[in-house]
Amino acid sequence: MEIKYDYLIVGAGLFGSVFAHEATKRGKKCLVIDKRKHIAGNIYTENIEGINVHKYGAHIFHTSNKEVWDYVNTFVEFNRFTNSPVANYKGKLYNLPFNMNTFYQLWGVKTPQEAQAKIDEQRVEYAHITEPQNLEEQALVLGGRDIYEKLIKGYTEKQWGRPATEIPAFIIRRLPFRFTFDNNYFNDTYQGIPIGGYTKLVEKLLEGIEVRTRTNYFEHKSELEQLAEKVIFTGKIDEYFGYQFGKLEYRSLHFENELLETPNFQGNAVVNYTNREVPYTRIIEHKHFEFGTQEKTYITREYPHEFSKDNESYYPINDDKNQTLLKQYQQLANKQQHVIFGGRLAEYKYYDMHQVIDAALSKLNEIFKKS
Ligand code: FAD
Repeated sequence: MEIKYDYLIVGAGLFGSVFAHEATKRGKKCLVIDKRKHIAGNIYTENIEGINVHKYGAHIFHTSNKEVWDYVNTFVEFNRFTNSPVANYKGKLYNLPFNMNTFYQLWGVKTPQEAQAKIDEQRVEYAHITEPQNLEEQALVLGGRDIYEKLIKGYTEKQWGRPATEIPAFIIRRLPFRFTFDNNYFNDTYQGIPIGGYTKLVEKLLEGIEVRTRTNYFEHKSELEQLAEKVIFTGKIDEYFGYQFGKLEYRSLHFENELLETPNFQGNAVVNYTNREVPYTRIIEHKHFEFGTQEKTYITREYPHEFSKDNESYYPINDDKNQTLLKQYQQLANKQQHVIFGGRLAEYKYYDMHQVIDAALSKLNEIFKKS
């Protein structure tokens, strides 16, 4: 069979699309495939009733990397969205991240000095714990009882699916307290949501490039590989090697979606439910990412979920067992001359969007410098 493409790119997510765009710009011919019925991978947004719904979990673009920020802005315009989640604990609302608004809501304190004094007073009870043995002890030492019980305990237990006393202490190294009235969750210089949704960003990246959706690489491996000089693989590294050493584990999420006949359900894009009794961790109201004024609203309740073969793989598990397994697969990957592994599934790494773009651009520069 005739070699028609320089690159076969497996996965139309952010890594694959940035790679495809840049390689095409450099005169290479690319074929992008994805097993899903749509492009954009996990940042896919679907327009429902005029609302751009984040189908694989809420995505907020934030970065301090000016190069990456300028890069994405050449494809789409970003709005001024600032992530400022609210916590609901047993019906009372608190601003996040922990800042002067939160301290006022918790204790009525009005100045940074009063807030600091209150936190010190809350922590003193746990000063005897010099080596916290679990997340509960660690959080109490760092923030005291009120913050722990109202804002940390239930949420973390739901996320991990076990009591805080059974979660390792190192998960919380410090609690980022902010002694200003600033509800901006991120500390990055740039932040926003692509106007028109993330799918539009990926559509622009893939403009003029051949894309085949509903095409699983493993089902057509031999014929697809004959079409291209090299493969950029952004799927699961363990799957690529037939899980021969075992499966890499992930934490998953389960989403429950609802279209409501009301223009505004909760007045904010993200509301976290921090008590244990509510089974979901948060509710996303998608229209607020883009200041939507539609007549209806679309909400998603997010439930942490154990990973199984029927669930999407979301968060890699950063423990010794999985890292050892990963190293075994990486050794095999290094021997594959014609395949380049990149992105969150092939590298088994949690990447934010700006990081995966940076990784794709770096990989590309590395390849083109060599050639
Ligand atoms: P993916 O988007 O997963 O793309 C890989 C693609 O490969 C998929 O489309 C898949 O279908 C395809 N594929 C896999 N195997 C095959 C195969 N055999 N054949 C064909 N195709 C295949 N980042 C932020 O910056 N801000 C956020 O707020 C944020 N929120 C997040 C929330 C959640 C719940 C999660 C899980 C992640 C979040 N991220 C966020 C991270 C962001 O989703 C990733 O950085 C980004 O999606 C990674 O892109 P990727 O191309 O590496 O992977």
